[in-house]
Amino acid sequence: MDDYEKIMEKDLELRGVSRRDFLKYIGILGAMTGLSESAILKSLAQAAEKGGSGKLPVVWLNGQDCTGCTISLTGSLNPPVASLILDKLSIRYHETIMAASGEVAESAYQDALKKGGYLLVVEGSIPEADDRFCMIGGRPFKKIVQEAAGKASMILAVGACASFGGIPAASPSRGMGVKKLLPEKTVINLSTCPVHPEHLVGTIVQILTTGKAPELDDNGRPKIFFGPVVHENCKRRQNFDDSKFLKDWNDPAQKDYCLFEKGCKGPNTNSDCPVRLWNDKTNFCIDCGAGCQGCAEPTFYGQMTPLFTSEGEVSKKILAKKQAGLISVKG
Ligand code: SF4
Repeated sequence: MDDYEKIMEKDLELRGVSRRDFLKYIGILGAMTGLSESAILKSLAQAAEKGGSGKLPVVWLNGQDCTGCTISLTGSLNPPVASLILDKLSIRYHETIMAASGEVAESAYQDALKKGGYLLVVEGSIPEADDRFCMIGGRPFKKIVQEAAGKASMILAVGACASFGGIPAASPSRGMGVKKLLPEKTVINLSTCPVHPEHLVGTIVQILTTGKAPELDDNGRPKIFFGPVVHENCKRRQNFDDSKFLKDWNDPAQKDYCLFEKGCKGPNTNSDCPVRLWNDKTNFCIDCGAGCQGCAEPTFYGQMTPLFTSEGEVSKKILAKKQAGLISVKG
């Protein structure tokens, strides 16, 4: 057992996490982030040694959202080994999960703002049409995000809404993502709807370990999570190539057919959902017969509609590419 593992030993005991499970999880995080296991262990051990002062402060703001990303975060607290990573954060302000409210909550926020150097996490979109669509404590959410971004060491947009506007982008408020509001800043977009807990934990580990953002694609998403399109790793892919498209959900003979004609946007959506899976590796949209709705893409939700037919703009592009034999190339 090396020094870093020894330092973590107390933490493991307290949470009832076996050393074996912990090291297995570190191995997964290493593979996920491309970081060495010893570098991850070292950064976690350093934070554990320093106690409260070693924790990365976090300010989490909620705008036009459904709180699904917060639910995803709290879901990742189980198994306890993931909570061991998230415990290296000091969440100073989070309207949904903090015990404080009113003036006490506001003063916690102001205190964090004064000190600066926090990780700013934004959940939910920002209204572009009119500030009055999202006001907090009598102030426009847009102003709050601009103010908090000024003193942040890193900015994370979690979920489709904070990344690119999401469903509220198609509403009268014309919700926009953080990067659109702050074009001069580096914003890490974890754009699935909701955020995948492992995308969040993996990105946090990357920041804790290297102090830097992971490598991002042209849409500001970490390449490690948003590489190949869903279609490339889909179990139904052979049926797409053979043009066996599901037409009737009630017909057992079609149960494994490709869902393209039921609106699947997998060929146009970069995400590792088919390999990472959801709900503690249980399944994901396509595995339970729903088709990919392209939630990780900047064009979600407006251009992905209609969701359950292949009559929309994006579906027509996919079909044209299939016909031209270009389907692996995303457009
Ligand atoms: Fe899978 Fe959708 Fe591609 Fe069909 S279109 S193979 S269901 S990703």
